[in-house]
Amino acid sequence: MARYIGPVCRLCRREAMKLFLKGERCYTEKCAIEKRNFPPGQHGKTRKAKLAGYGLQLREKQKVKRIYGVLEDQFRRYFEAAERTRGITGVTLLQLLERRLDNVVYRIGLATSRPQARQLVRHGHFLVNGKKVDIPSYSVRQGDLIAVLGRSQKNPTLEHAMEEVKGRGIPAWLTFDPTAISARVASIPTREQINLPVQEQLIVELYSK
Ligand code: SF4
Repeated sequence: MARYIGPVCRLCRREAMKLFLKGERCYTEKCAIEKRNFPPGQHGKTRKAKLAGYGLQLREKQKVKRIYGVLEDQFRRYFEAAERTRGITGVTLLQLLERRLDNVVYRIGLATSRPQARQLVRHGHFLVNGKKVDIPSYSVRQGDLIAVLGRSQKNPTLEHAMEEVKGRGIPAWLTFDPTAISARVASIPTREQINLPVQEQLIVELYSK
């Protein structure tokens, strides 16, 4: 599956907010947003664009894509799936993205960032309901049990991540058992439980043109 492989701090600077793509570094003063919070590029510092209408909608879509590490085509498919589902399209879109296995691994604190979670999933360290799943976009359902493969429980990356993200909190729609290193999807996340500073309605407006 294709993914963005360029410099990630640029993406945060473009969106003028922390997207937390680099794990621990994002919480330190080395974070590029702390040091250079202006758009990347030669004229980034001087260009003062006031966003409205299409520009605002586009930025909101880019932000969400970049947070979840999804490219345009796949993001469009998520949107189309959200449109086909009953409910508020923008919220459904976020719910679909939030239910990705790599996001769940990140949310329960087994990775320091979503890109790291994606790699851990790709390397086959996780089981869903007892079956190995190595597809980062795998969509979890209510009641699913996500566990770490027996031989991966001592994986240094996982151990390090668990130590590093201790105390950051786990969303209420997931229950985590640190002894068994497993998590249960207690419910589908509500919009309030998806802690994302985005206006999803703008994305719906953008795609509805
Ligand atoms: Fe973004 Fe993290 Fe880089 Fe800061 S360190 S700019 S939050 S990816």
